[in-house]
Amino acid sequence: MTMPKAKCDRCGITRGGFRMSMFNQDWCCEICIEVERTHTDYNKAREIEREEVIKGNTNYEGVGLPDGYDTWAKEQRLRLLHEDERLLLLQDALTDED
Ligand SMILES: [Zn+2]
Repeated sequence: MTMPKAKCDRCGITRGGFRMSMFNQDWCCEICIEVERTHTDYNKAREIEREEVIKGNTNYEGVGLPDGYDTWAKEQRLRLLHEDERLLLLQDALTDED
């Protein structure tokens, strides 16, 4: 599910497809989504969300961000950008000024 939105709730990037976080109701850019996918709690959060949807709870708000997520995400983002050229190119494309 994607939706146009002014800017990423997590990092402020203003371009690209935004998707809702698996942890809470933040609308996140593609990079922030990639970062949260690598968190150890991601699969658990996804399973809980799926169970809620099966139960018919379409207003489920997510399990909430794991403790210390902001700090972890900042470091993890740098690590991923360093290791994955695809993400680095994506960041360049999303942050390039006109
Ligand atoms: Zn972002």
